[in-house]
Amino acid sequence: MPNFAAETRAPGPECLSNLVKNKKPMYPIPPSAAAPPCAAARTATACPLVGKPIVQPSLSPFPEKMKLDNTRALVVFSGGQDSTTCLFWAKRHFAHVTALSFVYGQTHVHEVDLAEAIAREAGVEFHRMDAGFISGLSRNALTDPSLPMDEEKPAGAPPNTFVPGRNLFFLATAAVFARERGIRHLVTGVSQTDYSGYPDCRDSFIRSLNVTLNLAMDEQFVVHTPLMWLDKAQTWALADELGVFDLVRTRTLTCYNGIPGDGCGHCPACHLRRQGLETYLREREARTERHEARTEQREART
Ligand SMILES: [Zn+2]
Repeated sequence: MPNFAAETRAPGPECLSNLVKNKKPMYPIPPSAAAPPCAAARTATACPLVGKPIVQPSLSPFPEKMKLDNTRALVVFSGGQDSTTCLFWAKRHFAHVTALSFVYGQTHVHEVDLAEAIAREAGVEFHRMDAGFISGLSRNALTDPSLPMDEEKPAGAPPNTFVPGRNLFFLATAAVFARERGIRHLVTGVSQTDYSGYPDCRDSFIRSLNVTLNLAMDEQFVVHTPLMWLDKAQTWALADELGVFDLVRTRTLTCYNGIPGDGCGHCPACHLRRQGLETYLREREARTERHEARTEQREART
């Protein structure tokens, strides 16, 4: 099993430097966070970066800890199209998969029940985590039903369906959860291609957070984002390739109005999902027609 997992290198602080130097993130990382540790910081002398003494701990400052298992993955799982596709992607690449869903004060909390049903049917260990504090931190249309939902992204700001800090809290919690169970790999369904104006769906944020999680717990987690550079049509194609097209189409809940499957049809999430689906189905049909035409030509020649 899985060569993919075994060959994956966990991002360390140097990756953050590379990110800043080469990848040109849309939101630059502050120099203080991006700078490699200075010589002073590696000793017990004053570090010019912060102007006060920093004591670098020895290499083995902690009690013996559980070694993270390279064959295990934890999927941040909402039961929507993206995370369900990621769940089955993880099942293909890792020997042991666990799903973690969050109850964060979302209006359509039954998405967690749908997620549990999908996970159990897929033979995946399922956990639900209380993160109710998130809904008390900010006002947004996913946790406050009295707030009319933005149908389109306002200029210069995320839509009010953005839940500030959600992916940050989810992944930080998931990493602690994973560490306690010896799970090395974290999987999330965020995508920069169709990111709807949510800053915490972008590659630069995930890479930065991966480094932070590793530094925070002195671990070598790897955060996987299989959908990062896929559009919705390509995400449908991946679900089809994984053999779960019908399951994703009929059983997942992406709709902001809480309707599973094809949803309400008019909220921004449904719009994006349907557009991708129609594009993919058109492409699939054209491919099938080309294949049939080639087969007929071959048969005519023989
Ligand atoms: Zn909808």
